[in-house]
Amino acid sequence: CGIVAAVANRNIVPLLVQGLQRLEYRGYDSCGVAVHNGGLRRARSTARVAELLQQVSTEHLEGTTGIAHTRWATHGAPAVHNAHPHFSHGSGDEAEGRPGRIALVHNGIIENHEELRNRLKAKGYAFASQTDTEVIAHLVDSLYEGDLFEAVQSAIARLHGAYAIAVFCRDEPHRVVGARAGSPLVLGVGAEGSEHYLASDAMALAGVTDQIVYLEEGDLVDLQLGRYWVVDRQGDRADRPVRTVQAHS
Ligand code: GLU
Repeated sequence: CGIVAAVANRNIVPLLVQGLQRLEYRGYDSCGVAVHNGGLRRARSTARVAELLQQVSTEHLEGTTGIAHTRWATHGAPAVHNAHPHFSHGSGDEAEGRPGRIALVHNGIIENHEELRNRLKAKGYAFASQTDTEVIAHLVDSLYEGDLFEAVQSAIARLHGAYAIAVFCRDEPHRVVGARAGSPLVLGVGAEGSEHYLASDAMALAGVTDQIVYLEEGDLVDLQLGRYWVVDRQGDRADRPVRTVQAHS
């Protein structure tokens, strides 16, 4: 239902969770946050975002790159194991139960999730949830060859349905890739242009930045420290204007 993501050089967990609080008005049944902290770490809850905030502080969850989500379940019951972020569980040499290298949040519905799930299961991917979303995490993992942007670009070409996604990878600590088709997603440009954010609504970034790029249908965005770029659905570099939005309280 709601997405917030950030790449920065300070701990962004408070920013992410406060962003979720600003999206609470949309309604949700569960919430979660994942960060890059050596590996992938996350906290998820079926309680309020305030409880998630408590959880991240008790567990000392910190990181400079992260993604966060409020979920309105469409596939799979509202439960912690179905809450986002979802991690890929790599096939092959990785021990069972060990988190894989991709972390992902998603708003929307993937229509061909069943067909994708069957193909990924045949490749050895183990599923930990009943969501349509988890297939995207494994799909990106299965296409990953060292460049997250390329992997996400190949993955979305195989998706039918509506989505806004934010993804990061264990092997690329200062990068978040986002994409949208059928669900909203905006990019926030931070002060001095070094930090960058994604959110399903500019309101989630109120007090963080008022410099917003409204992504268009089919856009794919690459966020890194100190730079970002947008590519359109044809794969061409797109120049989207940065707009100054009125600050909400
Ligand atoms: N379809 C996804 C799920 O059920 C995402 C729902 C949402 O947009 O929050 O997990």
